[in-house]
Amino acid sequence: MTFSVHGIPVARGVAIGRAVIVASSRLDVAHYFITSDQVESEIDRVRAGRNAVVDELQRLQQEMPKDAPHELAALLDVHLMLLQDEALTSGVKHWIRDRLYNAEWALTTQFEVISRQFDEMEDEYLRERKADLEQVVERVLRRMLGAASPVVAPPVRHKRQQDLLLDDTVDVPLVLVAHDLSPADMLQFKQSVFAGFVTDVGGKTSHTAIVARSMDIPAVVGARSASQLIRQDDWIIIDGDAGVVIVDPSPIILAEYGFRQRQGELERERLSRLRNTAAITLDGQRIELLANIEMPDDTLPALKVGAVGVGLFRSEFLFMGRHGRLPDEEEQYQAYRRAVEGMQGLPVTIRTVDVGADKPLDDAHHDDAHLNPALGLRAIRWSLADPAMFLTQLRAILRAAAHGQVNLLIPMLAHGSEIRQTLSLIDHARVQLDNQGMVYGPLKLGAMIEIPAAALTLKLFLKYFDFLSIGTNDLIQYTLAIDRADESVAHLYDPLHPAVLRLVADTIAECNAQGKGVSVCGEMAGDTALTRLLLGLGLRSFSMHPAQILAVKQEVLRADTGKLRPWAQTVLEADEPASVLAR
Ligand code: PEP
Ligand code: MG
Repeated sequence: MTFSVHGIPVARGVAIGRAVIVASSRLDVAHYFITSDQVESEIDRVRAGRNAVVDELQRLQQEMPKDAPHELAALLDVHLMLLQDEALTSGVKHWIRDRLYNAEWALTTQFEVISRQFDEMEDEYLRERKADLEQVVERVLRRMLGAASPVVAPPVRHKRQQDLLLDDTVDVPLVLVAHDLSPADMLQFKQSVFAGFVTDVGGKTSHTAIVARSMDIPAVVGARSASQLIRQDDWIIIDGDAGVVIVDPSPIILAEYGFRQRQGELERERLSRLRNTAAITLDGQRIELLANIEMPDDTLPALKVGAVGVGLFRSEFLFMGRHGRLPDEEEQYQAYRRAVEGMQGLPVTIRTVDVGADKPLDDAHHDDAHLNPALGLRAIRWSLADPAMFLTQLRAILRAAAHGQVNLLIPMLAHGSEIRQTLSLIDHARVQLDNQGMVYGPLKLGAMIEIPAAALTLKLFLKYFDFLSIGTNDLIQYTLAIDRADESVAHLYDPLHPAVLRLVADTIAECNAQGKGVSVCGEMAGDTALTRLLLGLGLRSFSMHPAQILAVKQEVLRADTGKLRPWAQTVLEADEPASVLAR
C-alpha cells in the first residue's frame, strides 16, 4: 500500500530505490559493507558471539541456586531458545551473504525484522518476548564488539526488480533510512553507493544535512517516525525538493517521479556547460564562487564545477570517528597539503577544528552530559581549552601553507580575549616550527562571523583579521535561538528574518567599506533563491557545496548588481522580507 511520510527537504532531487534500514541499537554499532571474501569470517564472528552467549547462559543455568525462583530458569530457557532460533541465524546470514552487511549490522537488522513480527502478535505474552530478544541480541553484540574491524565501504549493488524497472542488468539504487546519522557515520557512507537518505531527526542545517548536500544526493530529514514505518527492502521515492518520502509507490507515481528524475539529470547536464564560464554579472562585477569541502579529496568535485578556490575546509571531519585518537601533526599536514595541492594553485581556506554540539568527535563521545552543547565548549572554545591539540593543528596548517595559498579561518569567536589568545598561539606555532627548522608558508587570517556578538563588534574583528567569513548556519541559530538540528523548531529557522539580514548586511557593508575580504560560507550562499539578495547587499564572494556552484553561477550571470542594490535595501527594511523577495 502506498503511503507518504513528510519531513524537511535538505538536498534536492529525486531518488528511487530500495530501503536499507540502519537500526538504532542501544549499543553503538558500526555499519559498513564488507567484501565478498569476508562473508565467511563475518558469519563466524556472529557464530562465535552467539556461542559464547549460549555457553554463558548454560553456565548460569547450571550454577543457579536450588532456591532460585523457577521463573528465572524459564527465562534463561527462553533466551537460549531465541538465540538458537532459525529465524535469527538464517536471517543474519542472509544480510551478510546477500547484502554484504558487517556482522553487527546484519544482527541488528534481523533483530528489527523479528521484532516487528513480535509487534504484530495477538498474544500479549508472545509480544512481550521482544524485550527478551533485544536482551540476547545486545548480549551477542557486546561479545562481538572489540573484535570488529571496520573496513572501507566498497560499493554494494543489487539487481533491479524486474517488474518495476525494465533493464535488469542495471543495479538497484539503495536508499538509506535511519533514526539519525552522526556526521562520522555519514563520512563512512560517503564512500558507498546510497542514492538518497531519510532520517527521523535533524534540521535543514544540521551537519548530517550539510554532508548530504555535499554528497549531492536527495535527502529528507526530520521525517519523525520514517525509520519505524519503512521496512527493510521497501521501494521508496525520496522527493528532496518537497521533503516527502513515498513508500511502496504505485506504477503511476513511479512513472511520474522517474520522469522528474530524468528532468533533473537534463538540468544538471545543461548547467555543466557553465563550468568554464567566468562568474561575471551583467554589469561586469566578478563574483568569486568557492567550494566548501569536508575531506581533501573533495577538491576533485570542486574543480570539476569550476570553483575558484576552497572557501571552507571543515577540518573537523579529519578528527571524527577515531575513537579518541586524534590525527597527529604529520597526518594533518599531509591532509591539508593534499587539499592545497589538489586545488592546483587556487586558494584554500582551512577552518580550525569545529567540534561539539551536533558534530561529536565520535558516537561514543556524543556528550549528552552538557546541558546545552550548542552553547558549550565547541569550536574555538574547544581548541583554546586544549592548547597542545590546537598548536598541533596550527603547525600542520602553517606547514601546508608552504605548498600554496592558504587562508586560516577561526570559528565561533566572540570575545576580544579569544582573538588575542588565538593570535598568540598562531605566533607560538611559528616559533615552534622555527625552533625545529621546519618550513612553513604565509597565511591570511580570517574569522567566522557566526555569533551575533561578533557581528555587532565588527571593528574589533577587522582590527585583527584580513578577512571575515559569515557562517549563516550558526548566525541564524544564535540570533533566533533556534537549535539548527532540532526538527521541532525547524519552521522558525529563518534566513530571511530581518534581524539575521541586518547582521549579514552590516558585516558585508563594513568589510566592503574597509576594503577587507568578506564571504558567506553558510548554507545561504548556496541557496539560489538568495543569490540576488546577497549580490544586492554587496557580497562578491560565496562559498558552498560544489554541487550548488553551477546553479548559483547561473543566477550570477543573469544579475545586474546596480539594479539589485536598491531592491536589496527594500528587502532589508521590510517587516516581512520573504514576501518582498517573492514579489
Ligand atoms: C556556519 O555556521 O554557517 C558554518 C559554515 O559552519 P558550520 O556549518 O560548519 O557550523
Ligand atoms: Mg558554524
